[in-house]
Amino acid sequence: MGAVPKQRISKGRQGRRRSHHALARVPMDTCPRCGATKRTHHVCPECGTYAGVPVYEPRKKSSE
Ligand SMILES: [Zn+2]
Repeated sequence: MGAVPKQRISKGRQGRRRSHHALARVPMDTCPRCGATKRTHHVCPECGTYAGVPVYEPRKKSSE
């Protein structure tokens, strides 16, 4: 037999455990070069720059 709980976990205790389960918001920022919404401390996916410095050439979208 596998692991079997010795005692029932009360709803209050279950809730207290799950009070830490919420997902945190991803901090977002705007790119200083193109103004697109990007993650903080990440290279902008729209223009490929970080703090105004080009890091890589952004991929051309198929619609352009
Ligand atoms: Zn950008």
